[in-house]
Amino acid sequence: TAIEVLEVVQSENLDTTVLLLDLEKAYDKPDGVQRGLIAEIISRFEKKGFYLRGMKLMDVKKALGEQHYAEHEGKPFFPGLVKYICSGPVVAMVWEGPNVVASGRQMIGATKPHESAAGTIRGDYALTVGRNLIHGSDAVESAKKEIALWFPEGLSQWKSCQHPWIYE
Ligand code: ADP
Repeated sequence: TAIEVLEVVQSENLDTTVLLLDLEKAYDKPDGVQRGLIAEIISRFEKKGFYLRGMKLMDVKKALGEQHYAEHEGKPFFPGLVKYICSGPVVAMVWEGPNVVASGRQMIGATKPHESAAGTIRGDYALTVGRNLIHGSDAVESAKKEIALWFPEGLSQWKSCQHPWIYE
């Protein structure tokens, strides 16, 4: 029955320590929420087979926006970038999977939408660099920092019943 299947999955999950390789923090920027693209963006990562470890809709306070984009402080677009990220709710998500940082960056597409390939999120849905829909960590190390910043409450560990059909 469905309940038995769930119990098997959960007990397997308890036996599992580190399932996968990389972690990525990705989040919809406010335009993804405003434009009704939340489900579309989540769906791409979900269908690929990555694990959703954390997700929440949140209003971003200025201090968090500045911390998140600290590496860009001093650049001419920094004030506008912080204003943009704080301009409405974002959906913050953590995805886990083999090489998810590199794969996720490919799925998101190049920073400037006119350079991002068709088939990527930015290539399909964005037109300008200042409204490019989604952020994805650029390295495993930055993902770790961003997870600590956005998800201090911790992440959810679970195992999908599809696991053996996706992961060899
Ligand atoms: P990415 O988001 O692809 O990792 P960067 O880390 O270089 O790109 O930049 C962070 C964000 O800052 C970009 O996604 C974009 O929203 C904004 N940004 C970058 N360069 C510019 C620019 N020249 N003008 C306006 N906004 C920019």
